[in-house]
Amino acid sequence: MNSRKTVAVVGRGIVGLAVARELVLAGARVTLIGPQNRRGSATRAAQGISSTKGLVVGNTPFFREKISGHAGLSAWLEGIERDSGQSLPIHRGGVWESGTTSQHYREIVDRVFRREPRGIFGADSGLMPEPFTGALRAGSSLTGVVESDLARDLRYPGDLWFDPGACLDAIEKWLIKSYVTIFPEEVLAVERGRVHLVSGSLPETFDEVVIAAGPWSAEVLSASGAALPGGLFVEVGGTGILSRPKDGPSAIKESSNRSSQTRQGDLCVVSGKLSIAVISGTLRAGSTTNPELGRLASDEAIAREAGDLAAQIPGAFGRHAGSVDKMLKHQGYLPTWGVRVRTRDRMPVVGSVPLAGGGRLWVATAFYKNGLQIAHTAAKTICSEIMNGPVARSRSPFSSARFVESTK
Ligand SMILES: Cc1cc2nc3c(=O)[nH]c(=O)nc-3n(C[C@H](O)[C@H](O)[C@H](O)COP(=O)(O)OP(=O)(O)OC[C@H]3O[C@@H](n4cnc5c(N)ncnc54)[C@H](O)[C@@H]3O)c2cc1C
Repeated sequence: MNSRKTVAVVGRGIVGLAVARELVLAGARVTLIGPQNRRGSATRAAQGISSTKGLVVGNTPFFREKISGHAGLSAWLEGIERDSGQSLPIHRGGVWESGTTSQHYREIVDRVFRREPRGIFGADSGLMPEPFTGALRAGSSLTGVVESDLARDLRYPGDLWFDPGACLDAIEKWLIKSYVTIFPEEVLAVERGRVHLVSGSLPETFDEVVIAAGPWSAEVLSASGAALPGGLFVEVGGTGILSRPKDGPSAIKESSNRSSQTRQGDLCVVSGKLSIAVISGTLRAGSTTNPELGRLASDEAIAREAGDLAAQIPGAFGRHAGSVDKMLKHQGYLPTWGVRVRTRDRMPVVGSVPLAGGGRLWVATAFYKNGLQIAHTAAKTICSEIMNGPVARSRSPFSSARFVESTK
């Protein structure tokens, strides 16, 4: 008799696929369910930056998770490349944070250093944003550096960019090779291990079911007799991809399939809510956010914002700055949008929720702005609990139970 644990994973974004991968590696028999890219799914719309940007010291649970996700991401992506035999576009040249005025730049410096560089940006950590490393080690005052032209952009040398869509394709390729069955259909509800699809129910009863359906997770849970106590909130974000005028749309696909070890001219910049990655001559502008569904900035507005940012940072944007206008006029602009979900406290839900009629469902959702960066660590947590039994963490920051008191 085959005694392998059977697990259904609902959702084919980065979280569902990361969970499916961990479970296969741990020896479970996995079935993956969900449409490949329901309109509004976050992963294929996302920019792809993994950053250490934020608080200086990892003094909140989420920030600690973000840093540990970032620290292990490169190795995780390499594992996917190795197992799938598919190269992923990855840029390891660091990310610039651009201060568009000296006031803006001062605010960034204030946030990053809190006037006292330490924690993850400690002088010995190797993560010190440039160009401060030299100045601080030499004992110079920050003020002198802030005033100089050179210091209008910070560079986080350890940050990276990868192509989230290519990552999904590579994981799925490996899952298929590992005999994972994929049902490309929407799930309506789960009842005692039975998964009900729009077209009928799957014949098999699963030992465990993981819901990783992004913003739609709340619907599936509630139809199954479970609820996320704090609820889910959504924000829409957009990404636009522009190709060089001479390349045309077909070049976008070609370039996103290409392995991109960091090349001359490749670049990632963030400024406020906007980020730009120029990889192999393709420009990708992302993260323009609106609070409500249906109120996303127009494609032109996203492109215009990208152009404005590029124009403001000629030093960092180098030879690409002049061509942005031409890029905007060219046909090869592919806009897309996705929904970021968050919980009330902006921390994810990673663990299980009880079902009204007994039993439980596993949930991995609400990763908000750092979902690409922490999907693999969340997946390891859920997989370890499914395979080895839940650890006692009923009030832990990532458990859904943390909301119970605040919602009474
Ligand atoms: C514009 C934008 C830029 C971003 N940039 C970054 C970034 O630079 N770095 C970063 O770390 N994060 C970024 N994020 C956040 C990140 O993209 C998300 O946190 C992450 O992709 C969430 O992954 P997910 O798998 O939970 O959800 P999704 O990618 O939304 O996947 C949900 C999946 O569930 C499936 N599904 C939906 N309903 C059902 C159903 N009923 N039954 C079965 N399946 C269903 C969908 O088809 C989809 O495959 C960005 C997000 C956006 C929108």
